[in-house]
Amino acid sequence: MFSINTSKGPVSFARSVGPFINNKFQPTLSGVPVHRHLLNPCTEEHLETVHEAGSEDVDLAVTAAQTALKGPWKHFSGRRRRNVLLEIAQALEQNIWKMTVLEAACGKPLAEAKYDIEESIECFRYFAGHADKIHGMNFATEDNHKSYTVKKPVGVCGLITSFNYPLVLAAWKIAPALACGNAVILKPAPQTPLSSLMLGELIAKHTNLPQGVFNVLPGGEAVGSAMVNHQGIHKCSFTGSGNVGRKVMAGSASSNLKSITLELGGKSPLIVFADADMDQAVEDVFGAIFSNMGQNCCAGSRLFLEKGIEDQFLARLQARVEKVKIGDTLNEAYDFGAMVDRVQFEKVLAFIDGAKKEGQGKLLVGGKRFRDKGYFIEPTVFYDVPETARLATDEIFGPVLAVMKPFSSLEEVLDRANATPYGLASGVWTKDLTKAEHCVQELETGVTWVNCYNLCSSHLPFGGVKESGFGKDLGTEALTEYTTVKAVTIRV
Ligand code: NAD
Repeated sequence: MFSINTSKGPVSFARSVGPFINNKFQPTLSGVPVHRHLLNPCTEEHLETVHEAGSEDVDLAVTAAQTALKGPWKHFSGRRRRNVLLEIAQALEQNIWKMTVLEAACGKPLAEAKYDIEESIECFRYFAGHADKIHGMNFATEDNHKSYTVKKPVGVCGLITSFNYPLVLAAWKIAPALACGNAVILKPAPQTPLSSLMLGELIAKHTNLPQGVFNVLPGGEAVGSAMVNHQGIHKCSFTGSGNVGRKVMAGSASSNLKSITLELGGKSPLIVFADADMDQAVEDVFGAIFSNMGQNCCAGSRLFLEKGIEDQFLARLQARVEKVKIGDTLNEAYDFGAMVDRVQFEKVLAFIDGAKKEGQGKLLVGGKRFRDKGYFIEPTVFYDVPETARLATDEIFGPVLAVMKPFSSLEEVLDRANATPYGLASGVWTKDLTKAEHCVQELETGVTWVNCYNLCSSHLPFGGVKESGFGKDLGTEALTEYTTVKAVTIRV
């Protein structure tokens, strides 16, 4: 057992800290086991030690998944897959507080952590609704022939996730993969594996999912790389940085040409026009960049304000920033937490220090560490940032907003917003729907929010364009990521 202290009292967990294969936790088969000591980033105190998987465990998990695909899982009807997904949702719901605490212990405010678990539950329910509706089509082709298509699961799916939304990102991949009848091996990020491991425990205890269909391999690059290069894995859905995404593509190319989905980084533009509802825009911009302390792929990290509103907008944004309560995320009194670990903390501080030294714009608010213990960084805003500054070009993945020089026309701001290799998300604030629709058409991003931000629904496909990746999580589009289509023609 290990225990996590919260402002509502301690919460105990079973020690579920190694590879989860065939519905049970197993000691790693690796000859050189890695024990990762996780810290609570708010306190720098020990949280749990995780026994990471090695490449031998990848082989074992692949065999377990292949066996499951040939066994009872193969004969599960869509209805039974639907029921299992609903059981997973129910198991999560019954353990929502425990799951919330596990996510919050990674430096995420309790309210945000709870929202993430609720969204994960919703995602399992959404794809449960699809599990019994996966079917092909009939075609009238030649005389005396019958043609139709059959949809089949891809096979063994390797799901690799980033650290920032551990359970949600996993759910976005697991739910459609299981709905389509695949077997999965999930590799959570090494910084945040606990909620994924607990999901394994809940599935084993509370659902009828056959053993071997859902496996979890905690670990880092070595395990991820072994999965990406494995001949027995037929699909890899990856969420993470562009650099690692390129390795995933290379691994697929040099192994079995497994199909891949890449959900990568961003440098998302936020555009506020002078006619916008200013209070709403300030609140949305604040959330766009500072939710999850900026550790958000969609983080709205470049702000474009129409000429004339910049002084008023920045004054209100500064006032909003100064209201945040930074502190231990296991205490619900605080609404702004810490960077996930020391590596991320130092990386973000280096960006801020570099920006100050090189004069990449003017500092409005924040700009330093908060407290001398815990990986806290103040929400930080620089303004008058030049287009070529690293603050404006690089994904920082921390609480740092670059307010660009004000814009004078619609065409100008669209050109500047699109001048990035990334294409994940964008936000627009205006009361003029014609202007909004023009932005929607012209912004080169996979998602555009108008007069709101960061609203992801299971119904809507999520994913980027350009160097933010390809393929989609969520929506009916996700089902195509986890199925193959066979065309059949029969002479009759
Ligand atoms: P990362 O790329 O460092 O790691 C992501 C995952 O890849 C981790 O599980 C890691 O262990 C694994 N990995 C590392 N090397 C590997 C290899 N050679 N082969 C296979 N797997 C390997 O990313 P991160 O620091 O965890 O997350 C931050 C990045 O993720 C940011 O760029 C962010 O924008 C992106 N992200 C994108 C989305 C999206 O949906 N588009 C969502 C969340 C995060």
